[in-house]
Amino acid sequence: MSRVFNFSAGPAVLPEAVLAQAQVEMLDWQGCGMSVLEMSHREQHFASIAAQAEADLRELLGIPSNYKVLFLQGGAYSQFSMIPMNLLRGKTRMDYVDTGDWSSKAIDEARRYGDVNVVASSSAGNYTSIPDPATWQCDPNAAYLHYTPNETIRGVEFGFVPDVGDVPLVADFSSTILSRPIDVSRFGLIYAGAQKNIGPAGLTIVIVREDLLGQTVPCTPVMFDYNVQADNGSMYNTPPTYAWYLAGLVFKWLKAQGGLSAMAAINERKANKLYAAIDASDFYHCPVDLTCRSWMNIPFTLAKPALDKAFAAEAEQAGLVSLKGHRSVGGMRASLYNAMPEAGVDALIHFMQDFAQRNG
Ligand code: PMP
Repeated sequence: MSRVFNFSAGPAVLPEAVLAQAQVEMLDWQGCGMSVLEMSHREQHFASIAAQAEADLRELLGIPSNYKVLFLQGGAYSQFSMIPMNLLRGKTRMDYVDTGDWSSKAIDEARRYGDVNVVASSSAGNYTSIPDPATWQCDPNAAYLHYTPNETIRGVEFGFVPDVGDVPLVADFSSTILSRPIDVSRFGLIYAGAQKNIGPAGLTIVIVREDLLGQTVPCTPVMFDYNVQADNGSMYNTPPTYAWYLAGLVFKWLKAQGGLSAMAAINERKANKLYAAIDASDFYHCPVDLTCRSWMNIPFTLAKPALDKAFAAEAEQAGLVSLKGHRSVGGMRASLYNAMPEAGVDALIHFMQDFAQRNG
């Protein structure tokens, strides 16, 4: 067996130790005589897997007891509609910060439910920076303020949590959750698709403050009602059981690495190495402002875009895969999630230097 270094933005690399454990447990989970894939979600084995995963996630993120943790389906994209459906609570206006492709999509969907006030946008600068919070035009009566702490496509990450007073703060943490500690109590709602830093695709995690629940817009489908999901332990219908189990294994792995402070130190070191290599060369360029460069998704271009194809192909030959940038922006992008070993970053830097020397 030879595993590649996978720089995909998601679904993405998972810790090898987690995959190996899942392999060992595939046919017979802990002596119960069946696979997790075959278990009823209504019986005791899966109940213990589900509860342990939630407990470990609560411990990792320090989630206060007045927050519900939901294990849902539908991807982060479904949250773009579930959030206004659940959090408008009789209001009509919502604040959104526009820092890239994903915040724009969240805005487009929210417009179906009320008046969206875009408090600030970095679109004029091609989404390479974060608008200074001092310039944001916030509405004190907004139902909530939504932002995207890490824009996966262009690699723009907030290095701070916005201060929005009493307005509930809602954040799409899809591509940065669990990469560093966060103060959950600052947020009304946090959500993330699992397929980047949590586990397999098919699972979406929502962490929501209890007092925001219970006032959905009329005709909210029952499956989209956070309160129903919370009251039923995310098992109103059949949950994505195997993805939930694998996420639980990832949470255990993160605890064994030393938790989120330890991960933050590793992630910062990995990202800084790659940015340093890019900045030190005339051959590569990262367009993102120095103040908001993502630790998780690092976009870069080649001085000669005609070489993009050769770069991606030769990298793949060297065991470095999925480096092509998002189809909407081109260039390259290296995603360095928690499970990307530092050796993968070192191998990428070595390859980039060698490629530049041969083609410069
Ligand atoms: N938000 C962000 C920041 C993302 O990166 C993505 C997926 N790349 C999404 C939302 C959409 O997620 P999903 O495919 O899980 O619906």
